[in-house]
Amino acid sequence: MIKVAINGYGTIGKRVADAVAAQKDMKIIGVSKTRPSAEAFIAQQRGYPLYLADLAKKSSCENLGLKVSGNVEDMIKQADIVIDATPGDVGAKNKPVYERLGVKAIFQGGEEHEVAGFSFNSDCNYKDAIGRQFARVVSCNTTGLCRIIQAMDKEYGVAKVRAVMVRRGSDPGEVKKGPIDAVVLNPVTIPSHHGPDVLTVLPHIQIVTMAMIVPTTMMHMHAIQMDLAKQGSRERVIEIIERHPRMGLVRKGTGITSTAELKEYAMDLGRCRADLWENGIFEESISVAGKELYLFQAIHQEADVVVENVDAIRAMMGTVKDPAVSVRMTNEAMGLKAL
Ligand code: NAD
Repeated sequence: MIKVAINGYGTIGKRVADAVAAQKDMKIIGVSKTRPSAEAFIAQQRGYPLYLADLAKKSSCENLGLKVSGNVEDMIKQADIVIDATPGDVGAKNKPVYERLGVKAIFQGGEEHEVAGFSFNSDCNYKDAIGRQFARVVSCNTTGLCRIIQAMDKEYGVAKVRAVMVRRGSDPGEVKKGPIDAVVLNPVTIPSHHGPDVLTVLPHIQIVTMAMIVPTTMMHMHAIQMDLAKQGSRERVIEIIERHPRMGLVRKGTGITSTAELKEYAMDLGRCRADLWENGIFEESISVAGKELYLFQAIHQEADVVVENVDAIRAMMGTVKDPAVSVRMTNEAMGLKAL
């Protein structure tokens, strides 16, 4: 059993914890918080030992009925690998602790590539992660881009990608973030950081991205255009997506043309937290004109990186060498049958 600690039990951390707990070859040895919160009560209910970044908060937790097992270092010492899901840039500050304690750690997309020196995506570079001490699972948007670009690159070769990211303003629980009534160019400069981030995983791809933030919490929407190196076919693109374990088709017959309807669909599918771990690619949007491919894809920001973290654990621990085997194990344990 691989012993996994979750440092930062928030939006991503709590999902990775449940995903890890569902795997036959892994177990959660603890999760950490900075202070008492609703999520700390959920951790306790799930049976995950709770650790604190700062033990000064121990009595305020215990007064509320939360059992505290120790501080973050106590947790890390018991772990084979740490998922660092603390807010962006906190992971970089935690790295010296992981180095000192000689433990493996996986950082998230809010950290710079340089923090780990290696950025991960199951489809693209699983084998390069084998045995590493540090890796960074790229952000939700980059993960979604990498999956579709890699699949098309394998089939046709990709000469150039242009993508516009319409990003959610905040996660549903983040009541203090916005915008409430604006389309914010974020950044106003072009390219946005997403294209360069794709290059940390797929360095040979030519890509330009543009991004804006809109007042929604559900998902991101990507409008993607790719120049293929060879003549493409719509039927073949659809077939590749249908066969992919982490990409799914939002079918014409469902009538779904929005993130809200897609989220409702994920809820009705009975997905844990209504999470959509796969890229939701709108079947009707897939258009091929000679060597040009166009499509829309929805990316559930809270979910798509979760399954990638689970695969990164197996790769770095070296317990499963074949990416397809790990992806299958992860998906089956979580009940992920792509749309
Ligand atoms: P979050 O704020 O929801 O959760 C972070 C958690 O870390 C909180 O529970 C907080 O209490 C805890 N924390 C803060 N400082 C800590 C410390 N020093 N030690 C231990 N715990 C600490 O953040 P999130 O949205 O889950 O983001 C985590 C990482 O995942 C970031 O790098 C982010 O960029 C990345 N990411 C987020 C999303 C998303 O949509 N939320 C998607 C992909 C990647």
